[in-house]
Amino acid sequence: MSFEHGSYEIVTVPCNFDNYAYLIIKDGEAAIVDVSESAPIIRAVRDRGVSVTDIILTHHHDDHIQGLDTVLGDLGGDIRVIGANADKHRLPKLDLALEDGDSFVLLGSDVRTMDVSGHTIGHLAFHMPDANAAFTADSLMALGCGRVFEGTTDQMWASLSKLAALPPETMICSGHEYTEVNARFAITIEPENPDLLARIERIKVARSNGQATVPSILSEELATNPFLRAHLAEVKSGLNMSDKSDAEVFGEIRRRKDSF
Ligand code: ZN
Ligand code: FE
Repeated sequence: MSFEHGSYEIVTVPCNFDNYAYLIIKDGEAAIVDVSESAPIIRAVRDRGVSVTDIILTHHHDDHIQGLDTVLGDLGGDIRVIGANADKHRLPKLDLALEDGDSFVLLGSDVRTMDVSGHTIGHLAFHMPDANAAFTADSLMALGCGRVFEGTTDQMWASLSKLAALPPETMICSGHEYTEVNARFAITIEPENPDLLARIERIKVARSNGQATVPSILSEELATNPFLRAHLAEVKSGLNMSDKSDAEVFGEIRRRKDSF
């Protein structure tokens, strides 16, 4: 599946059991975001007859990088590998190592690098305004967020707050199809949120038809994703945490999800 914005096409590539990689395509050239598995990505590239200029890695976990060597070997040519400077020691060899706030040009357009540490330290997200897309992998996900493995919940809340401030029409291209389980959890936090109830119905229909629920629109995440809503009075009071900080409420929601 794919969507278009301006002269860009963003193709979602299902990999492994529930991972998503992405192709960003413009004028016969493409960039790949994350390489969970080589075969489906190589197939998607060949089907479209595009030549790959760049591969972007969001973070060091195997399920986001393990297809890289095969993809580089099979596609050949001069492909720039891009990732976090902070993660240089545990990522494949990078041609461009980036920090929070760095901008770089991809397929002729500016991309802004955002450090979204929490799931891992050094996890990056990439905002590409000309494609109306943000590649968030295991930071902000559809109706969820990544488990906090390396950072703190305070750090993850700060990272999600940065993503929440992107233009609301931004397409959130995240790393996994976890939405159905996320929905079952979200409803325990906000059982009466009408936007959430409506979204859950759409998710059920999509999944029963074998359709992806990713990417999602940021505005919909802001209205329904409990991990973006920890600062709201109604969410705090629902958890009996009205006197607690936003980050503390986020931490409680994240802990509940971990044992859900
Ligand atoms: Zn991960
Ligand atoms: Fe992952």
